Amino acid sequence: TEGMNIQEISKIFHRDASEIIKKLLLSGVMANQNQALSKEVIELIALEYGVEPEEKVVVDKADLEIYFEDNEDEELLTSRPPVVTIMGHVDHGKTTLLDQLRHTRVTEGEAGGITQHIGAYQVEIEGKPITFLDTPGHEAFTTMRARGADITDITIIVVAANDGVMPQTIEAINHAKAANVPIIVAINKVDLPEANPDRVMQELSEYGLIPEAWGGDTIFVQISAKYNQNIDELLEMILLVAEVEELTANSNRLAVGTVIEARLDKAQGATATLLVQQGTLRIGDPIVVGNSYGKVRTMLNDNGRRIRSAGPATPVEITGLNDAPQAGDLFVVFEDEKSARMAGEERAQRAQLEQRDTKKKVTLDNLFESL
Ligand code: GDP
Ligand code: MG
Repeated sequence: TEGMNIQEISKIFHRDASEIIKKLLLSGVMANQNQALSKEVIELIALEYGVEPEEKVVVDKADLEIYFEDNEDEELLTSRPPVVTIMGHVDHGKTTLLDQLRHTRVTEGEAGGITQHIGAYQVEIEGKPITFLDTPGHEAFTTMRARGADITDITIIVVAANDGVMPQTIEAINHAKAANVPIIVAINKVDLPEANPDRVMQELSEYGLIPEAWGGDTIFVQISAKYNQNIDELLEMILLVAEVEELTANSNRLAVGTVIEARLDKAQGATATLLVQQGTLRIGDPIVVGNSYGKVRTMLNDNGRRIRSAGPATPVEITGLNDAPQAGDLFVVFEDEKSARMAGEERAQRAQLEQRDTKKKVTLDNLFESL
């Protein structure tokens, strides 16, 4: 059964462990004697020896989605910061807006003001935090939604007042609508003499984004990202929408969330920026992240400061994983190290098997193509 190692399985089938290891190698699975094996791998061995594995209905602990199920007791929920993505056409001012927010609203870290890029950060207005995803908006939507991770609560669509609605503006609207995420329109570059906010509003009306002044329910804010005009108003509007949305989370549980970005660092090993969605993430937590696992060894906040714990909607950068996960992967904290390791290894093995299957399929396809 699941979690057995090759030593144990070799006894069941009365075979040499080395023979089983060879068979697995031939099927493209690397395993050593003492490694806990996944259900799929054990089934593979059983089939090799002509044994039909019996069907078992068990909760698959390596399936990370189950830890995200929305069955939180209402009484345990408290309000949490909104997670905001900025989207819009190229050159309409997304980066300028993010930089403006970062430079004027984020308190510098103690590490001599070295603000490293961790893919997400928090801004405070009237003592209330707002989390911004600093990844290209489309990426945040497509990669993460493709993996079933909806992490954005509010979308800011930036439209340059001198340029109006452009193809990527429409794309952004469609993304946000498909994800059912409320939209706030930031009409940018209103400092320019040729700025024409009315035209932008007119154009957006055709896409169902109608300003309140015209009887609609879309919030429009006219800003200049470059000259820091009306940015506070934009932040206040975000809080207003967040309030309407009643965003909540349970901070008293084992943490779960999503990978914003990850990389392999020569000195530190795997480093991942995580967005905590439920629970509180703590130093030392046994954790499964995508197909990797480990213990949270270090944790930095968006200012590069070492922190010991992080609650819902907080972005953090962690180390301590055995491998780098991918943006959009889910993470789950486990009760104990052993369960985390087993789930992590199982996921890695499954990924290996999947990869092998894809390779096989590709080779067969090539074969047929060449016939
Ligand atoms: P992105 O492609 O959407 O990230 O756009 P950028 O932030 O890179 O901005 C594109 C150009 O527009 C840059 O040259 C910015 O300096 C300029 N820009 C951005 N916001 C403003 C603004 O509010 N007013 C003016 N005049 N220029 C702006
Ligand atoms: Mg940009």
